[in-house]
Amino acid sequence: MPDLQLDVAIVGGGPAGLACAYALTRAFKDIKVQVFERAKSYRECGAGISLDINGLKSLQAIDPILCEDFQRSVCTIQAGGRMTDKQGNDQGRTQAQGMRTNAQRYMDDYGIKTGLIGWYEIIQKLYSALPDGTVQFDHAFSSFSQDADSVCLQFPNHPDVHTRFLIAADGYFSPIRQEVLADGPPQFAETVMWRARFPWREDLGMPQGPGQVRGFRGEQAMGLMYSMPDDVVVWALSVQAERCSEAGVEYDAAEQSKSRSRRESSSVQNTSEGQGRHAAERCMQVVRHCLPQLESIVQGTDASAIVEHGLFIRPGEAVAAQQESGWGKGRVTLIGDAAHPMRPTGQGLNTSFEDVAVLASHLQDGGLTEQSLRSFEKERIPRVSAIAIQEQARGLTSYGLSEAAKVMSDSEYEQFKSTWQPRPLRPQQALAAVPAVASAGFQDL
Ligand SMILES: Cc1cc2nc3c(=O)[nH]c(=O)nc-3n(C[C@H](O)[C@H](O)[C@H](O)COP(=O)(O)OP(=O)(O)OC[C@H]3O[C@@H](n4cnc5c(N)ncnc54)[C@H](O)[C@@H]3O)c2cc1C
Repeated sequence: MPDLQLDVAIVGGGPAGLACAYALTRAFKDIKVQVFERAKSYRECGAGISLDINGLKSLQAIDPILCEDFQRSVCTIQAGGRMTDKQGNDQGRTQAQGMRTNAQRYMDDYGIKTGLIGWYEIIQKLYSALPDGTVQFDHAFSSFSQDADSVCLQFPNHPDVHTRFLIAADGYFSPIRQEVLADGPPQFAETVMWRARFPWREDLGMPQGPGQVRGFRGEQAMGLMYSMPDDVVVWALSVQAERCSEAGVEYDAAEQSKSRSRRESSSVQNTSEGQGRHAAERCMQVVRHCLPQLESIVQGTDASAIVEHGLFIRPGEAVAAQQESGWGKGRVTLIGDAAHPMRPTGQGLNTSFEDVAVLASHLQDGGLTEQSLRSFEKERIPRVSAIAIQEQARGLTSYGLSEAAKVMSDSEYEQFKSTWQPRPLRPQQALAAVPAVASAGFQDL
């Protein structure tokens, strides 16, 4: 047997991979864990994420101090976010208003502050909480092999890595998933998305300050613009592929899914699938057709900040069908988008944090064993599949594509999310990583 360099190798340094590395250092004293990330460094990109009660409870189970740090940085949605239609007519409140109401309830019931935070800020916080050297950048995983005792990982231009266990957190086109399950790429959700993140500007017609939201509705198309702390603004538009075609913009989902499974990043946030002038031009063409009320905003956005990508999912029913087989094999398991890519209706990252809290507690209780990986998958699959089914229904309803798709009532769903209680870890490495959280420095990148 080769010398094992690591107890656990994690492929993918997105929120799931980084949180997992952190949770494992909390759960085990002196565990050797490393994260292999294909990017050369993190760049300021990504959408605003709604950190929901289940995601924050999961962070609390991993480390209450880290959870407090996140709560200090989330911003509360401000009242008054309105939707406008093509003609600029008021269409009522954005869904963000519901987030505001729930946030108040969660604060009253659980003393936890939920709200918006940037994907990039999440990455910063988790990265700074990890011991130096945990994340190995510029490591694009290419393949692995496993035997009864170990896993060998291959990275082009780097020596092989031998580890006891492998956790795949490599995003929604996960190459590791294909080696483990060979179940093909995720399904195109018939939706194309354009996004941009940039500094706040007065001419955007949005009040200054975090938590402001404006919504834009078209036929099978919608857009949201929101502001986050530090005067950062994000807009995100999602349009049904059929409507894009009508506007003369085709999205080749099969080609994108093939090429993204083969090469480069499979991250939904740090994507280079379509970026810059070309994406901006396509976006303008679609906006003129479907969401003209957004034209001046898109026109006024620096093209280099605009990103285009398709939405890909694994339907909740398909996740549920894995109850017996699990979603890993031998010494390998999956977490986050690699395991259950969903529509961006607000649960992808929150369920990724759930995965991490549950996986770390299973490993802590059962030890670093294959059995612990399987018991983690068994516990996760029913809950994740229920959430994925619900989020899919919400997504379709928000485009006016389905009314009947509602699976649970909103109040049942809120109850389902909030009553869930992850088991807190018994931290072995008594707060060793916490001073880094407090300073939250990010100079090393
Ligand atoms: C517009 C938008 C809004 C969203 N809003 C929300 C929200 O409000 N709430 C919510 O909960 N979720 C939201 N989501 C979903 C959320 O972003 C994802 O679920 C979350 O980022 C998943 O985290 P992850 O770490 O599993 O994957 P990712 O964030 O995709 O990270 C995967 C990482 O793996 C790396 N990687 C990929 N391939 C390799 C390889 N071969 N070798 C090495 N590294 C590799 C990537 O570079 C990346 O860093 C939203 C998504 C979008 C697009």
